[in-house]
Amino acid sequence: MTVIYPSPIFGPVHSRRLGVSLGINLLPADGKVCTFDCIYCECGFNADYRPKQPLPTREEVRSALEARLRDMQQNGPTPDVLTFAGNGEPTAHPCFPEIIEDTLALRDNYFPNAKVSVLSNSTFIHRPAVFEALNKIDNNILKLDTVDEEYVRVLDRPAGHYSIRKIIEGMKAFKGNCIIQTMFLKGSYKGQDMNNTSDKFVLPWLETVKEIAPRQVMIYTIDRETPDHDLQKATHEELDRIAERIRETGIPVSVSY
Ligand code: SF4
Repeated sequence: MTVIYPSPIFGPVHSRRLGVSLGINLLPADGKVCTFDCIYCECGFNADYRPKQPLPTREEVRSALEARLRDMQQNGPTPDVLTFAGNGEPTAHPCFPEIIEDTLALRDNYFPNAKVSVLSNSTFIHRPAVFEALNKIDNNILKLDTVDEEYVRVLDRPAGHYSIRKIIEGMKAFKGNCIIQTMFLKGSYKGQDMNNTSDKFVLPWLETVKEIAPRQVMIYTIDRETPDHDLQKATHEELDRIAERIRETGIPVSVSY
C-alpha cells in the first residue's frame, strides 16, 4: 500500500526504534515531491502522485506544530522525537532553515528532551542555509544508498544533474555530525538485477562511509510494499554481514530488518 502522509503534522507514530515520533511533513498532503524517485519509495512514484495543493507555509507549519505540541503536553503522549519526513524531500522546502529554527524553539519550549530528526536524501546539503540548519538538529540522517554512478540512476533515480562525489564532499563537511542511512535490497526492476548486498556494492560504499566518518550508520531494507513488486527484502544474514563490516571500522551501526 502506498502511504501519502497528512501535512504538515502527522502521527505520532510509535516505533520500537524511535519511540514516540511526531512527524512533520513539509510537502503537500495530496501528493509527493522529491528530487529522487526511488524505486522502493513508500510514497509511490513521483509521476503517479503529483500534488495539486501548494507547500505548507512556514507559518502553517509553526502554528500546526505548536497546536499539536500543546495538545500533547496536556493529553500525552510525550514525544521522543520530532521527525521531518513524509511525502518527499523536506530540505526542498524554500523555508526549511527557518522552519528548523521554529521547530527547535518550540521543542525547547514544550518538550526540551525531545530530539529533532531530519530524514533527507542529501540533494540540497550544498546550500549553506540547509547545511547550517542540518548541523543544528539532533539527528541529521542523510541517505547514501550507493556510490555506484550507474546503480544510483536505477535505484534512486535523481532528477536532473547529480554527482555522487559532490554529495560525499557535502557529507564530509559535517565533520561527523551526520548519520548515514542506506537501503539494501534484492530482486529486480524492469528485468534488471537490483541486488546491492554483494561486495561489488558494499566494499566501495564502506570505503566512502569511512571517508565521511559519520557518527552512526543506519542500514535497512524494504518493509512496506514498494511501487515495484519484483523487489525483495535483504535477509537478516545479509544485513548482519554488512553491519559487521561497518562495526569493524569502529562506526556504530543500527539495523532495521
Ligand atoms: S528520497 Fe525518500 S521520499 Fe524521495 S523518492 Fe526516495 S524514498 Fe521517496
